[in-house]
Amino acid sequence: MAHSRRHLLQLLGLTGAGLALGTLRPAAAAAADGTLMERLSVCRPEGDPLQELLRRNRDFSRVWQAAERSDDPQGRATLLSESWPLHCQVRPDALAAGQRPWASVLCCADSRVAPEWIFACGAGELFVVRSAGNTAFDAGVASLEFAVAELAVPLILVMGHSGCGAVTAAMAKAPLTPLLEELVTPIRASLKPGADLAEAVRRNAAAAAAALPQRSALLRQAVAEGRLTIQAAYFDIGSGDVSLV
Ligand SMILES: [Zn+2]
Repeated sequence: MAHSRRHLLQLLGLTGAGLALGTLRPAAAAAADGTLMERLSVCRPEGDPLQELLRRNRDFSRVWQAAERSDDPQGRATLLSESWPLHCQVRPDALAAGQRPWASVLCCADSRVAPEWIFACGAGELFVVRSAGNTAFDAGVASLEFAVAELAVPLILVMGHSGCGAVTAAMAKAPLTPLLEELVTPIRASLKPGADLAEAVRRNAAAAAAALPQRSALLRQAVAEGRLTIQAAYFDIGSGDVSLV
């Protein structure tokens, strides 16, 4: 391992079990890591990670829609917590020593679209990158490179959502700050004249998903070698449903 990479990983607390790439280490250390990796993997699905995300989302949307039937804020929270199908939770002491997320989600910073909530995942399951408008921004792509290279994440879900303010801003003519103009530039490039907001969100998610392997040789190689799937998706806030794009 290059010194600079080791230093970066130490800074991020990701040495040891956080590493998924093979490194030359003593057998005892490797065995200890193996035990820890098992403990970190208790929530990891055996099948297709994309199908698992969709399965958990179906459970989420059921309780999400059920909560709508309660007029009391605390009642809604109770309903969600009691029927919340939290499928799994890794032990905190294992998480203190490493991580083994099984999917990445690139999604909007919007307060209504937290992926752990939408996909009923506990700590250590999802490697999440968020920015308004879920574009393939530089730091986001770099973060996903890290997830794929160092944590062997096999899936990146690029998820747009209904009512997205960033896509709405990209579609409008109102003046924006210089940094917001920069943020909406790739969204504007994906727009199609005459499209409504929902279609614009779907096109933007698809464009960001397509941009990831174009912008990153590391991600491109992982896709080519069958180690990585990149998929665009759309989250409907009202129903709680995630659908593929
Ligand atoms: Zn948004």
